[in-house]
Amino acid sequence: MSPSRDNPRKIVLLGATGSIGHSTTRLIAEADGIYEISAVASGSDAEGLARIARKFNVPFAAIADVKAYTALKNALSGSGIECAAGAEAVVEAASLPCDMVVAAIAGTHGVAPTCAALGLGRTVALANKESLVCAGTAAMRLAAKHNARILPMDSEHNAIFQALGGEHPSHVEVMTLTASGGPFRLWTQDQIAAATPAEALAHPNWLMGPKVTVDSASLMNKGLELIEAHHLFGISPEKLAVLVHPQSIIHGLVSFADGSVTAGMACPDMRIPIAHCLSWPHRLPTASPKLDLAALASLTFEAPDMTRFPALQLAIDAMREGKGLPTVLNAANEVAVEAFLAGRIGFYAMSTLVLEAMNAAVRSGMAVEPVSVDEALAVHHVVRDRCLALLAGRHS
Ligand code: MG
Repeated sequence: MSPSRDNPRKIVLLGATGSIGHSTTRLIAEADGIYEISAVASGSDAEGLARIARKFNVPFAAIADVKAYTALKNALSGSGIECAAGAEAVVEAASLPCDMVVAAIAGTHGVAPTCAALGLGRTVALANKESLVCAGTAAMRLAAKHNARILPMDSEHNAIFQALGGEHPSHVEVMTLTASGGPFRLWTQDQIAAATPAEALAHPNWLMGPKVTVDSASLMNKGLELIEAHHLFGISPEKLAVLVHPQSIIHGLVSFADGSVTAGMACPDMRIPIAHCLSWPHRLPTASPKLDLAALASLTFEAPDMTRFPALQLAIDAMREGKGLPTVLNAANEVAVEAFLAGRIGFYAMSTLVLEAMNAAVRSGMAVEPVSVDEALAVHHVVRDRCLALLAGRHS
């Protein structure tokens, strides 16, 4: 049944105070009673979380950072809203009964709660790509075992999901994810080498959190998305491609064996794929911008440059090699982006660190397939610690 005011869809929103969370609550507010939020969770923004919980009359709010508990409790006092803190509290929120879990926690912190929802057979609108990069095989196995449906909320995967139109993946010859090319698309290698965090954070088309924005500048984000698509659609790495498309109007393309190509198009606004997931398989009108191709006049495309953007090639190598390498790539890249944003390493030192971590994992026999989500997360933490030690050694 289509969600309506008489039959509101109950949503658990993980990552409520982030960029996707913000767009989701905006859509839910505009839909005026068609959706209900049964639980919210966030990282450490107690005030922001309390504001959302109060505004939407949410019965339960969980905050990952235990130090933020008192602030959350105070901000909710007198509201009757229950609250809790810590990683287990976020998993508890993810596990509450609902019609759909919006998994929008940024980064690998989002893996455990997302996979808890999958293990309960929930419908999960997935914006947390790390669940499928860090723990892809184990997470997909968990979803299949418990009949959990994953709706892709990432714009490229959402476009491909729609362009597929229910066709069997075996009919697909190529799946193409587009990339805007980020702020350094036209920069020389020397210019990119000297790029500052502020320059990397100035994305031309999308407004996103800092981690994914830096990943977009290095094209690592597109590499992570290839790995995500590989698991999500069960498509082999050789059939996945990247196309640079600076206008970000076509988000994904599916080429079929008979030469037909379907494309998923929309204005670059995250509210569009979010709205598609929230109301799926129905479609509800929203106030999002509508596409005007005559006003745009032209769309352009170019091949990605692996020399200036080596991070994309590293992710492709990790995807092709498979097993534990995507887990290692993701962990090393997280440390690398944190160090770059803190001004401790240069732009290309990020891909150097990722390559070193991948080589070290192969040498030490750590590149084996994690058998469970917990094991993938354990590998993630070991790799993170090794990368942090490596960087500390270099700077001491
Ligand atoms: Mg994306």
